[in-house]
Amino acid sequence: MSKDMKYLVLENYIGGKFVPCSKLMDSFDPSTGEIYCKVPDSGPEEVDAAVRAANEAFPDWSAKSPEERAKVLNKLADLIEARLEEFAQAESKDQGKTITFARNVDIPRSAYNFRFFASSVLHHTTDCSQMDHMGCLNYTVRCPVGVAGLISPWNLPLYLLTWKIAPAVATGNTVVAKPSEMTSVTAWMMCQLLEEAGFPPGVVNIVFGTGPRAGDALVSHPDVPLISFTGSTATARLITERSAPHCKKLSLELGGKNPAIIFADADMDQSISTTVRSSFSNQGEICLCTSRIFVERSVYPEFLTRFVEAVRRWKTGVPSDPSNDNGALISKEHLQKVKGYVALALAEGAQVHCGEGVDSLTLPQHNADGYFMLPTVISGVKDSSALMQEEIFGPVTCVTPFDEEEEVISRANGVRYGLSATVWSRDVGRVHRVARKLQAGLVWTNCWLVRDLNLPFGGMKNSGIGREGGKDSYHFFTEVKVIAIKH
Ligand code: NAD
Repeated sequence: MSKDMKYLVLENYIGGKFVPCSKLMDSFDPSTGEIYCKVPDSGPEEVDAAVRAANEAFPDWSAKSPEERAKVLNKLADLIEARLEEFAQAESKDQGKTITFARNVDIPRSAYNFRFFASSVLHHTTDCSQMDHMGCLNYTVRCPVGVAGLISPWNLPLYLLTWKIAPAVATGNTVVAKPSEMTSVTAWMMCQLLEEAGFPPGVVNIVFGTGPRAGDALVSHPDVPLISFTGSTATARLITERSAPHCKKLSLELGGKNPAIIFADADMDQSISTTVRSSFSNQGEICLCTSRIFVERSVYPEFLTRFVEAVRRWKTGVPSDPSNDNGALISKEHLQKVKGYVALALAEGAQVHCGEGVDSLTLPQHNADGYFMLPTVISGVKDSSALMQEEIFGPVTCVTPFDEEEEVISRANGVRYGLSATVWSRDVGRVHRVARKLQAGLVWTNCWLVRDLNLPFGGMKNSGIGREGGKDSYHFFTEVKVIAIKH
């Protein structure tokens, strides 16, 4: 760890060593707008050094047994858990999320990602044909792919980075990871634990920097045969183009425009409290957040009134106060973009019920330049509006009535995205029927964000290509081979 007068200065982690970078850039504390740390602005040179280190480490790491690798992953999980509070404080300061969210969600899940894949990798089986198929026994084996390039976003920084590193190294790959330039601190803190956990030098390399420089160098590097990317659909298009000449294996986990469908027979109390959470958790900066709420017309007025009351109780304020539900948005630019959607709603004649422009937020003087915004509920928006079509990725949700089951399915599906959806009804037949017809990789009924890590995670349409999770991550991070033995 080094200090540049008053700022934390991060260094790349390459071949088991911290390596200073000649170019640095500022990273901000979203709750104050002040510089929090200096982050390497790495380019092709740094990425190439990391890929070489990962390539050198690959033969030994991939030759280890899954049990040996699992031991190292479990040890890293222990080390993260032992420093949970330190990691949570850093994640909250770097990202703007509340300390409560970082303590209860981000950091425990980051440690659990290592524990989960340490166990999961021990329990897969491969295929075998009938004993005598044309005089041969055919069976499959799975081998690690090589150096995995991992690129992650800023909303759940360590959580999403470890969701990629853990399965990649558990299956015997070595990695070069690039976290978001806006949230690099917890990845850098994790690098300090890798040697103690037992990772040989070069197995995990982390290069910090922007997408267009460090990210692009990784994506277009000829010795990186696989890219796992989580981020926006726009970036995924660039990554697809840049990796195409090398025929890379790609996993793309992208944005969403997730509907919640509330039928008149739903449990009102539960649907309201969960939909507040699903719309506004982590400032609405989760790819799975609800941003379109369709409510059956007979209960629409009651739902809207009670929903707005509940949203007003969702507390926004300084991230370090554990009583707050929301902290600050990631950046000034993002805040302006999200607020721009509210301005557009007003220009289109929609009604803003609470939040931006309606209620006021009192903040301590020190946080006056922070990127805060109140949770905002809008109605009267057309389905064709940008508010109903584009991913806002902030604390804004739109509510609209519907009349028929088929109508709401078609409207819910009427966007380019297909990540997740929630359905609220006590009618079990309807729940199954609607869930099957929704174009989404995940459908939650009468709940939200219940995740079994064994099951496939990912989206359809513009929300992504491929799935991650237990068996899916195992398949993605390995190549399958058929071996035929003539007897
Ligand atoms: P982003 O696409 O701007 O950036 C994501 C990562 O890609 C960052 O590390 C960035 O530096 C890098 N990057 C940017 N340009 C690049 C390029 N040309 N080449 C290589 N890498 C490049 O996304 P973001 O703003 O950081 O994150 C928000 C987005 O992520 C939202 O759309 C959200 O829905 C999505 N997301 C999806 C999931 C999921 O699992 N489906 C989870 C979280 C976030």
